[in-house]
Parts: sequence; C-alpha cells; structure tokens
Amino acid sequence: MTVPSALIWDPAVARYQFRPDHPFNPRRLELSVSLMESLGLINDTTARVVAPRMATEAELLAVHSREYVDAVRRFSAGGGTDDAPRYGLGTDDTPVFPGMHEVTSLVAGATLRAAELVMSGEVKRAFSICGGLHHAHRGRGSGFCVYSDLAAAIAWVRREHGGRVLYLDYDAHHGDGVQGIFYDDPEVMTLSLHESGRYLFPGTGFVDELGEGEGYGYSLNVPLEPFTEDDSWLAIHAKLLPEVMEAFRPDVILVQNGCDGHALDPLTHLRASTRLYEETIRLVCELADTHCNGRVIATGGGGYAVWEVVPRAWTLIWGGLSGQPVPDRIPHDWLNRWQGEAPVLLPERVRDDPAAHKPVPRREEIEATNRRTLESLRRQALPLIRGWDLGW
Ligand SMILES: [Zn+2]
Repeated sequence: MTVPSALIWDPAVARYQFRPDHPFNPRRLELSVSLMESLGLINDTTARVVAPRMATEAELLAVHSREYVDAVRRFSAGGGTDDAPRYGLGTDDTPVFPGMHEVTSLVAGATLRAAELVMSGEVKRAFSICGGLHHAHRGRGSGFCVYSDLAAAIAWVRREHGGRVLYLDYDAHHGDGVQGIFYDDPEVMTLSLHESGRYLFPGTGFVDELGEGEGYGYSLNVPLEPFTEDDSWLAIHAKLLPEVMEAFRPDVILVQNGCDGHALDPLTHLRASTRLYEETIRLVCELADTHCNGRVIATGGGGYAVWEVVPRAWTLIWGGLSGQPVPDRIPHDWLNRWQGEAPVLLPERVRDDPAAHKPVPRREEIEATNRRTLESLRRQALPLIRGWDLGW
C-alpha cells in the first residue's frame, strides 16, 4: 500500500560539488531520481516531489558556531581562505568553492523541509536525497560535509515539536558529526553502524563512545569488520533496532542512508549488496509504524559507485519509504538515456543477483567478531537507556 511520501528534490542542489573530479558527485542524485521516475515510483499525489527551501541563519546557528558560519560565508563569497584549514575546509577532501554557503544552506533546507512535512502530518515519510552530511561538526567541516542538514533537522524537531529523535546512520563511515553535536542530549539517540574506525575515516565510532553527562547511554555505535556482508550486518540490525526502539520510544526516526557499504563502492571495504538497503528500510518503516506513527525522515549520504550502485540503492530506499513495490527490471529508456555517458556497463536489474556474490574468505571469523561487538554494546548501553530500566 502506498504511504503518503515526499521526495525532496530540485536540480539546484547539484551545485553542491567541490570539483568536477571529486568523488562526492552530484550526478548520482539526478541518476537516482530519473530511475525512480522511469520505474513509475513518483506521482503527483501519494509519492510526490517537493522542492527544498533554504535553511535560515538561525537554523544553522542552532547547530553550528557563529564563527564557523561566518567563515563559510566569507569563503563562499570569494574571501581569503588562509585560515580555511582551521575550519576543516580548503582540504583535498572538503575544498572551498564559490557559493558553498548558499548551496549547503539549500541542502540543509531540503532536510528541514522533509522534517516539516513529516512532523506536520502532511506525509508519513520524506526523503531528502541530497542530505546526509553526517561529518559536519559544530565548528568545522569534514569529510565532504560543510553544514549538518541532519543536526539542523533534529534541532528543528526538538525546538518545534519536542519529543525524542532516533538518528540512524547506515553510511559505511561513522556518523561522527551528528553524534558529537548531540553527545550530551538524552532526547536524541544516535545509532551508527559502520566500518570500524580502525580501518576507515573518520577513525571514530567505537562501542565505548556512549555519550556524556545526561546523554550517557544515548550514543550507540556498532563498528563492523571490513568485508562484512549482508547476513552479518542484517542480523545485528534485526537484533538491535527493535530493542532500541522499544527502550527509547522515539517520536520520529531520522535515517541517513549512505550506500557506500556496497561491495562495489571504491572508498570502503564492506561487502553489502542491494539487499541490505531494501531490508534495512523495511525494518525501519515497520518499527516506525509500531512505535512512532510511521514517521520517518530519510536522507541520502555517501555512495561513490555513482553509476552502478547509488541509483539502485536509493530507488529501493524510496520504494520502501513510500510503500511501493520496486520492479526488478531497469527500463530500457533509462539504460538508453545514461549508458552513453556511463564509464561502466550499467546493471539491468535493480537488485544484485545473490548468485553472483563471491563468498568472502574468513567469513565466519568476521561474523563472530561482529557478534562480539554487538554483545559488548548491548551489555554496556542498553541498561543505560531510561526506558530499558523501567522495563516499560
Ligand atoms: Zn560514507
């Protein structure tokens, strides 16, 4: 059954681009939306496109320092950039570019728009496909992220509606920025599943990062072994998420759907297939229906296999959010439109073929290590959550 949903999209968000050859390539957004259209998953009523708005300065200052926002504005307008590294900018990863303040305000506004639509009850689910900038910190940018659309949306929900927000982060990289901004806040729980920081940027996200002060126990991390496959990832998710939902009882879920944990992603070492994305969002929506009136605000995130993975992964996310079955065969019109520009042969099916998957050596060892990581987190963290204590 189709669930009232909004896809927040405008081609203008594609101006969020650091350099033509930078891996954070906005092309993936256009490819994803065109695949959704081509599969008939966008309409004018129940699963519609809504334009983003700009985040206001007050909305940015709710989660970023005045000094940082002023610096970004100055770099954006072509001012001197000698001090940019102090703000995590002007680096190879996160260079300065003209108009960066404006377009990142638009990306933040897209996720704010998604939050508004969901919290007003206009839709149950909204997908800010350009959002998910989870490495941006209060006073500095990092890892391709300038302003935190995610933190801005969480702060907006807290201010306008109160209630508790569960932030889920499925990107292959640890969601360090969002975790840090709400580290002492017991009304915002962050849960990040990612490749272990021992092997991957940003080098954080370990089990013992549990929060601080009042927020101790409200920051959860599952650092996964490199080469983790769907089965292990999904088993951990299916065990942990229902427990967290039951104990924390959020009023809304914000989920970051980075798809750079896919086996074909060039920047990470996880071994997920498209099944991971389809099953993850299904469980998130099912638990949201049970515990928080179905309210899910979703964003994109990382994803560097621009042609082969991102459009399929995010189409499956949109299908799951909007309650629409996703046909498996990719239409010829889509393949014909894009194959000429693609540097790789485009897949003809939305879902990866499980038979094509080569088993990973040391699979059992990887699964056993991941299980131990999960148990260590459950032992340490679950008793700290208030609702868990009370037994509800
Ligand atoms: Zn990532």
